[in-house]
Amino acid sequence: MSKYVDAHCHIEDKAFNKNRDEVVKRAKENNVIIITSGASFGGCVRALNCKRLYDIYLTLGYHPSRVNADDKIINKVYNLIKENEKEILAVGEIGMDVKIENIKRQEEIFKKFLELSKEINKPIVAHARGFEERIFKLSDQPIMFHCYSGSLELAKEIGESGNLISISTLVCFSEHHKKLVEKLDIDYITTETDSPYLSPIKKQRNEPINVKFVYKIISEIKEMDINEVKNIIYKNTCKFFKKKL
Ligand SMILES: [Zn+2]
Repeated sequence: MSKYVDAHCHIEDKAFNKNRDEVVKRAKENNVIIITSGASFGGCVRALNCKRLYDIYLTLGYHPSRVNADDKIINKVYNLIKENEKEILAVGEIGMDVKIENIKRQEEIFKKFLELSKEINKPIVAHARGFEERIFKLSDQPIMFHCYSGSLELAKEIGESGNLISISTLVCFSEHHKKLVEKLDIDYITTETDSPYLSPIKKQRNEPINVKFVYKIISEIKEMDINEVKNIIYKNTCKFFKKKL
């Protein structure tokens, strides 16, 4: 049975406190691989617990929106990642966001975690809204661009150099993301929900099983059988993380 991949979500998010068990069960029953991503100190601790409890996959990082935290917190996250390097697929999400203040400090924090990823020899999962090119140029580690929203030209360059473009449930509403799917080689693509965010169903909280909507759109646009899409995305993602998921 071929599997779906939700390469980036936040199962540890408090939005799932009421029915996390159910959400994970629903995903697993439908063969959805879950990769959850810690994005704050508390989030990383909870994500680590979820990984152990549910036997799902994990990345640990620090979201650029937390740019105003002091070094003490950032070092705590840094050490947590280091101590648990064997449990993670990648460092992330980390990155920069044009809509968030203090770009200089964002870059400084990003570089710190980038150095860590090199030290522990892991790829990164990047949040790079408005800074796709900058993150690409700064990094000499393999990058999965979570919820990529940059240009098609850059996406091609990113894919050609062995990185992954992650297509999120945003594709359900966005012509730009549909265009990316249409024009990009499918070998450069993975899929995600970013749950509980980016719901494809209005007024509903997103969850990993909704990654199915992304597959439906990819298979329509690419005129490929859904199982073929599943096999390719699965293969791309395993290759990127260097692990059979
Ligand atoms: Zn996220």
